[in-house]
Amino acid sequence: ATPTALLVGTGRGAQLGVLIKGPEVLESTRRIDTVVLDKTGTVTTGQMSLSAVHLADGTDEQQVLRLAGAAEHGSEHPIARAIARGAADRVGELPVATDFGNVEGLGVRATVDGHQVSIGRLFDGELPAALRDAKTAAENAGRTAVVLAWDGAARAVLDVADTVKPSSAEAVRGLRDLGLRPVLLTGDNEAVARTVATEVGIDEVIAEVLPQDKAAVVSRLQGEGRAVAMVGDGINDAAALAQADLGLAMGTGTDVAIEASDLTLVRGDLRAAVDAIRLSRATLRTIK
Ligand code: ADP
Ligand code: MG
Repeated sequence: ATPTALLVGTGRGAQLGVLIKGPEVLESTRRIDTVVLDKTGTVTTGQMSLSAVHLADGTDEQQVLRLAGAAEHGSEHPIARAIARGAADRVGELPVATDFGNVEGLGVRATVDGHQVSIGRLFDGELPAALRDAKTAAENAGRTAVVLAWDGAARAVLDVADTVKPSSAEAVRGLRDLGLRPVLLTGDNEAVARTVATEVGIDEVIAEVLPQDKAAVVSRLQGEGRAVAMVGDGINDAAALAQADLGLAMGTGTDVAIEASDLTLVRGDLRAAVDAIRLSRATLRTIK
């Protein structure tokens, strides 16, 4: 029997909530020394909510919510859903956006009520001091802060709160106990990433990485001689999951991520990754 047949055959993999794709997977699991963890939806729940709105001088909050909510309405991103829902809760029906454009890993642009709106990390002008301070404070507290701009000026900063999964810190300890180096990888801001990393016990952080660059980060680590497992949930993690020596998808994540992976953590609990690595090492010892 192949190792996989053994693992699957005993039903232990399924019992642990881990689905294994192919026979070569166990052997790659044994060599891993680094585990790259996506932040949003992997270490955190990814169930975001709009937690605060900070306005530039002279800006009307109702208008901010209408334009932000309408612009984000067309995006599936967890940040977008939080803002669209939060805005609709506060102001009721939202206007309809036209010329909607999603800029992967950066935000969205749209025309709403005759204004050219952008939201996310797309505004590259100077922020008024009050908005800059609000953004820094949010990020240091671990909240994602996005900038809402229209007609060339920054008008508001919106804070979006996510929650670290209660199981993540224990999972990171488990990875360390197996001698593995955890790394947090995200497209989000450095300060937010640091705060989340500290909360779960990770000290290596790679932040502000565009979706199309996540795979390159994995291959750079491999180039340094590391054998890399990647854990992710999003469309933007798929290439990195495929590039990794071992790809692990959250079963709660997107189909694209699951298809690109070797293992699926059915319940979306990171502790299952630790169990899977420990079990496959033990299984290989038994075979040898
Ligand atoms: P992650 O790696 O955490 O899954 P992404 O690569 O999807 O994050 O996004 C990176 C950053 O780009 C977000 O933290 C946010 O600042 C910005 N962003 C992306 N999409 C949106 C959106 N629809 N609305 C607002 N901001 C966005
Ligand atoms: Mg994610």
